[in-house]
Amino acid sequence: MRAACLGAATLAAAALACGCGASITARPPANRFDGAAAMRWVKLQVGYGPRPAGSRASRALAERLRRALPQGRFQPAPGGLRNVVGEVPGRDPGDVVVVGAHYDTKNIPGFVGAIDGASGTAVAVQLARTLGPREVRPTVVFALFDGEESPRGTPDTEAVFVRRGLRGSKVAASAWPHARAMILLDFVGNRHLSLPREGYSDARLWSRLRAAARRAGFGGAFPDRTTGPVADDHLPFRHRGVPAIDLIDFDFPCLHRRCDDLSQVSTRSLDATGESVLQLLLGS
Ligand SMILES: [Zn+2]
Repeated sequence: MRAACLGAATLAAAALACGCGASITARPPANRFDGAAAMRWVKLQVGYGPRPAGSRASRALAERLRRALPQGRFQPAPGGLRNVVGEVPGRDPGDVVVVGAHYDTKNIPGFVGAIDGASGTAVAVQLARTLGPREVRPTVVFALFDGEESPRGTPDTEAVFVRRGLRGSKVAASAWPHARAMILLDFVGNRHLSLPREGYSDARLWSRLRAAARRAGFGGAFPDRTTGPVADDHLPFRHRGVPAIDLIDFDFPCLHRRCDDLSQVSTRSLDATGESVLQLLLGS
């Protein structure tokens, strides 16, 4: 993606107009992404209860998500699973950026995945409904993956997860192998959100995300450090050479525990993620 200077130019113009250059460092947060609406998408998903891949609840949710996305449609995946895909057309039809999240939940009795599943899906859906047609150069594909979690009863190791999980994103990566970038939203809604660069994430694209977050006024959520790599839905894209990043707060204490419920979700964290990724898209 090309780095954008629109934000800086706008701020400089504002500073000139009011003669208050110091305001450049204390910029107000961007306010175009509707964090409260994203919270409503989280609550809607959690309202379906546990949503393991292929379950009745997951399939019903998929119908609802398809209607929520612009140009919403299903993309079949093995085992009868379905990604939900929408898109916002860009000015250059040959240029594609994929924004992804998974909508299935880990198959644990009583587990509703308010953060792990619902938060990333909620931000992706709300971004799709915010970005205007031909507002940016690339067509932005919004891909909600089915079957990210590995099937019940399989060992909880990274090797098994990479082989048996990531089912929807493998299909999506084969559909858009020439995408310019892939932005994965995973654990993005928890209180005290902190998103250092995840170890497999493309360093250049991540630095652009951090710059976009600073422009949006949410740089504090993206500390300048790198954590260990996390196998996730960005890997099938990475393996095809697509620069990919994963927004995941892996210090989330309720990882794959039943406490991953609505009490963990913060509207401000959803908003910080949405505004930052929106700025990144606007600069592309
Ligand atoms: Zn999970």
